[in-house]
Order: sequence, then C-alpha cells, then structure tokens
Amino acid sequence: MAETQEENRRLLAGIRSWVEIESPSTDADAVNRMVDLVEGSLGDAGLEIERIPGRDGFGDHLIGRTPWATNEAGIMVLGHLDTVWSMGTLEARPFRVEDGKAYGPGIYDMKGGAYLVCDAIRTIMASGDRTLLSITVVLVSDEEVGSPTSREVIETEARRAKYVLVNEPARPPHGSAVTMRSGWGRFRIRVRGRAAHAGSDHRLGRSAIAELARMIVKIEAMTDYGRGVTLNVGTARGGTRPNVVPEEAEAEVDLRFADPAEADELEQVLLGLRPEGEDIEVEVLGGINRPPFERSEAGMALFERAKSVAADVGLDLKETWAGGVSDGNFSAALGVPTLDGLGVVGAGAHAEHEHIVVDRLCERSRFLLRLLRELD
Ligand SMILES: [Zn+2]
Repeated sequence: MAETQEENRRLLAGIRSWVEIESPSTDADAVNRMVDLVEGSLGDAGLEIERIPGRDGFGDHLIGRTPWATNEAGIMVLGHLDTVWSMGTLEARPFRVEDGKAYGPGIYDMKGGAYLVCDAIRTIMASGDRTLLSITVVLVSDEEVGSPTSREVIETEARRAKYVLVNEPARPPHGSAVTMRSGWGRFRIRVRGRAAHAGSDHRLGRSAIAELARMIVKIEAMTDYGRGVTLNVGTARGGTRPNVVPEEAEAEVDLRFADPAEADELEQVLLGLRPEGEDIEVEVLGGINRPPFERSEAGMALFERAKSVAADVGLDLKETWAGGVSDGNFSAALGVPTLDGLGVVGAGAHAEHEHIVVDRLCERSRFLLRLLRELD
C-alpha cells in the first residue's frame, strides 16, 4: 500500500512537470519546449529519435524507436503533446491537488497519458530486457486542431505497426478503453447577400442572415441519433446593425458519424448547399477530417488481450465507444488493430474542471508496462 502511494506520488510529480510546460497547439515555440523535454527523456533512455520539423505554424512531431528489430511489425504507441489551453491558463489555474484529484491544463488530455508512456519506456529500457515486439512511440503536436501536419506521419507509422495503442484519456466511469469512435467533419458556411437600408430600401436588400437561418434549420434536421449522425451548428454570426439588411453571415458546422459511406453522402449534401433566395451567394468550405474508428474483430481481439493483461494487475478493464475523435481514428481506419483510451483516469477534457485521479496512476502505469511487454 505504502509502495503504491509512493509510486502514485512519483508519477504525479513527473506529470506535474509536464503540465507546467504549457503547450497550446497554436503556439509552435511553446509545443516545441515540450517536445524538447520529451525528446531528451526518450533519447536518454536509449530510444532512436526522429524529430520531424513542424510546418504551417505548428510544432515538431517526435518519433522514438526501441533499438531492437524483430521480424514482425511492432507496437506503435500514439499520443499528442499539445493541449487546447492557451498560454497563461496555468497562471490562472495552476496545478493543484484536491481530494485525490490533480488539476491542471492538459493533465487528462493527455499529458498524463503521454507521461505514463514515456515512464514505461524508460523502465523497459533501464531493465535491459527487450520487449517481444519493437516499440515506436509517436507523439504529435497538432492533434487538438485536427492533426493537419501529423496525419501523414501517423499513417505512415501505423501502416508498419502490428498494433496501435493510444494513450488518450481513459473513459468514465471506470477508466474504460476505447474500441470505437465517431468520425468527424467540420464545415464553414459563408453567405453573401446584399446590404440595404432596412427602412427605405428593404425590398432591395438580400438578407444573408435569413438565408443562413433557413440552412441551419435544414442542417440540424439531418441529425439522426439512431444512426449515430449528429450535425451541430456551433457558431453563427452575421450582419452589422439592426437597421441594415445583412450582407454577410457565417456559420460553422460540426458533423459526427459512425458510417463512412453515410459520411460521404452528408459531406456532399453540405458542400452542395445552395441558396434558396435570389441574388445570394453561398460558399461551403471544409470536409471530413477523421474517418470513424469502427469496432473491428481485430480491434476487439486486441482489447481482449489487454483485458487479460489488466486482470493480472488487478484491473477490470472495460471497453466503450467515444463520441470524440483522436489520432486513433486514422490508424483504425487503415485496418490496424487500435486500442485507445489507455491513458489516465479522470474527467473534464477541454473543460476547466479537467483532472486526473491520483490513486489510479500506479495501476494504469503497471498495466501499460505489462501490455507493452506481453504483446506479441
Ligand atoms: Zn487528446
């Protein structure tokens, strides 16, 4: 018991040091400070490091490989070092522990999980015992904005892997692993009408807001919970002042789906939106960002394997579906057995109450270490 508590304390201290390096996806210098730290840590442990320079204003991506080769494809461990939190969040909401929960920006999604991976790798390397399969750790820096610059890196490595383990947050209520995720698409709709004086020239105006409003009603009506399809118009704005017929209006749509074929159809419908009114222009940008992570036989076999490893360390591992996406969507869509949600237990991803459960760090860490050692 005392030993477990000591281990929880040790892991938490490490996670805290990562949380205290802020790393918003949109700040390449900040993310790269985090990448520097992890690169040093994995390099010192003896991994072969490949650092892929960032582009388009994003940070670098990091690949670390165990120096032993096997004849078989290996394990890819996938995660991200960026967070959704802007610089300065830490000052406003510093790391703190309260009632057994540790709070801090990005602690649950997913500095905690990424730290556990690096800790497990350090343990493996220090032991001198090779794992049965080679391990490739891939940590990217733009996951929270849809992985625009890392997708290719992820897919290239995933194609070479036998299994992909993703250390995104474990899911409530019991720290479940994730065997299925929705796909995701994002669209921006721009409407341009014609401005006019709302009093004297109303009939000459073409209201962009009225046109957008009709579209919003149509878009929201395509939601079908039974088929796992949701469309959310998450932002809408337009116009300048009450006495002007609005010339411009704009909205952003978030699409979630379970079936890729259906997603293609929905994408066509959204990209093909046309104005009902005359003299109005509509432009739709965006598209499907991540394919769905479908529950597969091979993926479930990997889960069963993980479940039995978990049982050996006294952990009753469950599996669940998640509405949110991760980079696991990319590997799963390639047909590579992927098991996600192997990170820390907690709640509140992307929310102010984001936290992890300190008492469960040790069991998660033991489970991960054993899984990396036993997979063959
Ligand atoms: Zn995440």
